[in-house]
Amino acid sequence: MEDYTIITPQQITEAITRYLHRTGFTRFSPKAALIDMDGTLYDSMKYHTLAWHRMMTETGIECSRDEFYLYEGMTGAETIDLLIRRARGRHATEEEKSELYKVKTGYFNKMPKVEKIAGAADMLRILSDSGITRVLVTGSGQASLLTRLENDFPGAFSQGLQITSHDVVHGKPHPEPYLRGMALAKTNPWQTIVVENAPLGVKSGHDAGAFTVAVTTGPIPPVEMVRAGADLVCPSMEEFARILPALLGNNQSHNQ
Ligand code: MG
Repeated sequence: MEDYTIITPQQITEAITRYLHRTGFTRFSPKAALIDMDGTLYDSMKYHTLAWHRMMTETGIECSRDEFYLYEGMTGAETIDLLIRRARGRHATEEEKSELYKVKTGYFNKMPKVEKIAGAADMLRILSDSGITRVLVTGSGQASLLTRLENDFPGAFSQGLQITSHDVVHGKPHPEPYLRGMALAKTNPWQTIVVENAPLGVKSGHDAGAFTVAVTTGPIPPVEMVRAGADLVCPSMEEFARILPALLGNNQSHNQ
């Protein structure tokens, strides 16, 4: 069993070697970081899962609160469609998608104020100091958090360097969100680090070909992140910020 509590320099080197092996790229030379929002920058998932569970239960759809941690990264419309299909054996209508998402958003907005994830500001500062382009890539279209970003993390994301649910046809786990993020950053996959907290987001980053870091900030065990294709799993955002300079400085080239 791997130890996930502290990441050693050797683990970083091995992770990059495995990444080059799996992708066939000959180098890893990070120039951009594509960063998820919920559960990565904000400790918001506990409230999202509560709001989803309450809305669905009131709609008469049986579900558990914990299952919504696994759907994190999908757009709201996709999550609603998934549960309607399961409960009623048909797709959700466009009206259902927009009405039910509105109700869920209303519940979320009434929850206590969402805190920043500890270490997230440090991570963004280290990226900025290292000249790494930062792009927000979120499945959320939640205006309440998107408008808080500039206040909470001043200067972290230049205007225009954001992909939200409004910019994609397919949400995570499809690679589209992270492929679009790379297009905005003008980087190749081997120049791109994805920072995620959820298995579906990890799969999206992995399938887009980026070096994908999973930071565990909720109840999902590290093994799920590995299964989803994480190139590196960090036990906390503080630990990721601590090892980030070493990851950025570890530019491997392989002749293959
Ligand atoms: Mg997330």
